[in-house]
Amino acid sequence: MTVDVTAQDMPYRNPDLGVDERLNDLVGRMTREEKVGQMMQVDARQGIDKEVVDQHAGSLLHVSPENMVKADEAVHRTRLGIPLLIGDDCIHGHSFFRGATIFPEQLGMAASFDPDLIQRMGRATAREVATTGVHWTFSPVLCIARDTRWGRVDETFGEDPYLIGEMSSAMVRGYQGGSALTGKLPKDAVLATAKHFAGYSETQGGRDASEADLSHRKLLSWFLPPFERLAREGVATFMLGYESIDGVPVTVNDWLLSDVLRGQWGYQGTLITDWDNVGRMVWEQKVQPDYTRAAAAAVKAGNDLIMTTPGFYQGALDALDSGLLREEDLDRAVRHILALKFRMGLFEDPRLPDVQAQKAVINSPEHQELNLQVAQESAVLLKNDGILPLFGGVDAEGRPRDDAAHSIALVGPLIDDAQNQLGDWAGGSGQCDWIEDQPREMISTVADGLRRVLPENWTLNCEQGVDIVRLVDDPEGPFFPDGQPRPKVAAPAEIDRVRFDKAVNQARQSDLVVAVVGDVVQLVGEGCSTATLELYGPQRDLLDALAQTGKPMIVVLMSSKPLILPPSAQSARALIWQPDPGMQGGLALARILAGMVEPTGRLPITFPRHAGQLPVYYNQIRGQHGNRYADLTQEPAFAFGQGMGYTTFAYGQPQVDGSDTVGAEDVVRVSVDLTNTGRLPGTEVVQVYISDLVTSVSWADRELKAFRRVRLDPGQTCKVVFDLPVAEWTLVDAECRRKVEPGQFQVLVGSSSRREDLQAVTVTVD
Ligand code: BGC
Repeated sequence: MTVDVTAQDMPYRNPDLGVDERLNDLVGRMTREEKVGQMMQVDARQGIDKEVVDQHAGSLLHVSPENMVKADEAVHRTRLGIPLLIGDDCIHGHSFFRGATIFPEQLGMAASFDPDLIQRMGRATAREVATTGVHWTFSPVLCIARDTRWGRVDETFGEDPYLIGEMSSAMVRGYQGGSALTGKLPKDAVLATAKHFAGYSETQGGRDASEADLSHRKLLSWFLPPFERLAREGVATFMLGYESIDGVPVTVNDWLLSDVLRGQWGYQGTLITDWDNVGRMVWEQKVQPDYTRAAAAAVKAGNDLIMTTPGFYQGALDALDSGLLREEDLDRAVRHILALKFRMGLFEDPRLPDVQAQKAVINSPEHQELNLQVAQESAVLLKNDGILPLFGGVDAEGRPRDDAAHSIALVGPLIDDAQNQLGDWAGGSGQCDWIEDQPREMISTVADGLRRVLPENWTLNCEQGVDIVRLVDDPEGPFFPDGQPRPKVAAPAEIDRVRFDKAVNQARQSDLVVAVVGDVVQLVGEGCSTATLELYGPQRDLLDALAQTGKPMIVVLMSSKPLILPPSAQSARALIWQPDPGMQGGLALARILAGMVEPTGRLPITFPRHAGQLPVYYNQIRGQHGNRYADLTQEPAFAFGQGMGYTTFAYGQPQVDGSDTVGAEDVVRVSVDLTNTGRLPGTEVVQVYISDLVTSVSWADRELKAFRRVRLDPGQTCKVVFDLPVAEWTLVDAECRRKVEPGQFQVLVGSSSRREDLQAVTVTVD
């Protein structure tokens, strides 16, 4: 079949007409097969021709550069020539495009506490993606990471709803080039996705996609606010999570989809299921007897695009035949999808790959520079007894630093592991089959970075010492039930005595040790939750042996999520967390160690001391017997908001500007004097939490409501001013209403979520 020649003159092809007029014309011409097909998003690796030409698929994902051409040709062989919407997971850069800029993972971006920077990251990613024929990124992730055994913590912005809202809003502004739902998407922008709606992260025991035990009130209190914000700000699409809540899969959850998203929030954008959500209701969750009923239920619940459920096509047609569905039921979904295509102008310009633009934009020097900045700002210094920075400047007492020749033993499994430092959803992470890795020369490992920044009179001795994993066949067989290949699984690597001893000897012979430990992609992602959070494989043995050399040691944890550190790491002279830092990670770290740049990251997520403490997020509900386990403290290893730089700051007493009795409509101005009390210039992330002292329902002791990065020279003081709308000092009451309750509140200002790091001023709301 080829494009109907008469269709060229049809009203839906006329860009001078309004979207509604074009929609009415096109939907009126579509057969029911074309409508069902339009709702399908197909995995291009499984096929394009049959799916697009015979089954009229409206959207593709995982399209290799080669298949982009095939996809376009297939459209030209369809009756109506409806352009395809092409999506992919460009979640920290254009993940599956060889040579694209791969940024730190989302958790690292959150550690920057720098929404403006993340907006620029989103813009850079969109510019790269838009040149390659991909129109839509399945990003950002708005899930709240509380059980960190879950394999996808790296994809989140951490544990706090406010921080998640700030970061994801900025990212979407970057992706969509500032355009909201009804606006025209600029040519160098891509559609964004708020995912995974909602509560997917609230797993049982960290087990991916398991039932989420969430009441409506709990959802409304913590999990929904970031989604509501993006819905109201005009994120183009929503992706629905895998899990079921109270027995109802999100795909057919009327309360979430109809009452809340479409109803209360009035969201007009396009919904897409997650991977085979409709099929999983049949073969996995077993809440639908067959594809006919599953397809009918999914359409009726308000899904628009159905991701990778091949059985949806026949299932939906059978549902129409048997009266379970009416053709009008499909129209709503089809209109949402086509409206996106019209608004993007895809009928006039299908935004095909543009090789010239790719050359100019992808991995441009500006994007590399931006990537370095994101990597630098995402590193969190958790401990430093003054050993850092290694050279240059002055030490904590103001003495000039000793720049005499030194030797560093750089040891550990991640000192030079270019692909693993990119994290999940990047070249070699296994989700796509046309790309095996990212070019080695684009990636700066820690070894590369230190070689680049160390002065000539320093020596660097590199020895990995141990591996983290060895790969073994999955005992479950080579394929998942849905046909996706099962990657090999990780077993702990064994100690190779020769390599191990060589690393430890090198430590003995050097002046100081930099040990880089963490995790690798086989311990991250879907189906890769971890039970213990301990450093995997022989890493602990290595750290223990290094500590025993008595040499000063700096530990770098390069990992997808907070891990449990052994005493040998905790007693190191300095400890830095680098959430999988992307292509510039090694250079960023080296510049931080050297003192060329200060670490300014703060924890977007709490570090437990032991997996048995989970969940350890800071904004827990008040009230329990005691505050310790009989066998362990409840204090986490490091709390949300913590992180150090190379200088010190002192906070004054926060002051309320004007009356300290206010109404619920007021904006309270709170200011605090901040002084750089150290010897180096530095940036502080000033954090503001609100504590509602007496509440009608049990509630969190304190919640983040504002933050600001403030840079000061040594000795400089400045007044940091926050305007805090009282309307945001809310809770969700027993009847699920979000409201401000009159009474006393503390405004807490300081350097982390820990009470001891915060200064309070009391405000009464009457
Ligand atoms: C993930 C989504 C992703 C989709 C497409 C799913 O397995 O849960 O986050 O966007 O695959 O790759």
